[in-house]
Amino acid sequence: LFAGPVDFLKGVVAMDGLPEADRVEVCFAGRSNVGKSSLINALTGRKGIARASNTPGRTQEINFFTLGEERYLVDLPGYGYANAPLAVVEKWQRLLKQYLQGRQTLRRAFVLIDARHGVKAVDEEIMKLLDSAAVTFQCVLTKADKVKLNDRERVLNQVRGALAKHPAAFPELVLTSSEKGDGIASLRSIIAGLD
Ligand code: GDP
Repeated sequence: LFAGPVDFLKGVVAMDGLPEADRVEVCFAGRSNVGKSSLINALTGRKGIARASNTPGRTQEINFFTLGEERYLVDLPGYGYANAPLAVVEKWQRLLKQYLQGRQTLRRAFVLIDARHGVKAVDEEIMKLLDSAAVTFQCVLTKADKVKLNDRERVLNQVRGALAKHPAAFPELVLTSSEKGDGIASLRSIIAGLD
């Protein structure tokens, strides 16, 4: 689906470190522990690829992966670290804002939401940031295998209700399980279909 190498490219800590904006780019955002690394591993079919971005020191970087020759997958730092020093949080929020507002080739952000918990206040923060940067975002529900079928519709409705307030939200939700593989192919084809 993605012709060419799928690999970790680099971690970026400042705008001047960004790779050349020469291809379609998608980014992934989500609070820590939402299942972002697992999803990136599943999506790329490379177990362990996203570990690079989850190691201490790398967690405040914007991490770039190649999805073949024509796309970048961008792993944004996990938010909601309650105990990170304020200066660190402020530094990456500044970088995040600059990146979202300034990246011409960024086609879509995927905001990961734990399918058991729905949209939380910290998720609303990133959604507001995406609204103000006019970056279209789509919600990806993670860990779907942990939610009983009976509870699914309730969570989906909660998420839909939350999205209704956000002008940059793309309405279609993607339900995934990195564990079981559900929704991974759909997500891949959504990314492959962006141009
Ligand atoms: P990150 O901090 O967002 O990168 O989250 P991780 O990918 O490291 O996942 C956090 C925890 O959730 C780990 O214990 C994973 O094994 C677990 N997890 C991630 N995805 C799934 C999933 O689809 N199903 C289940 N049952 N557990 C998952």
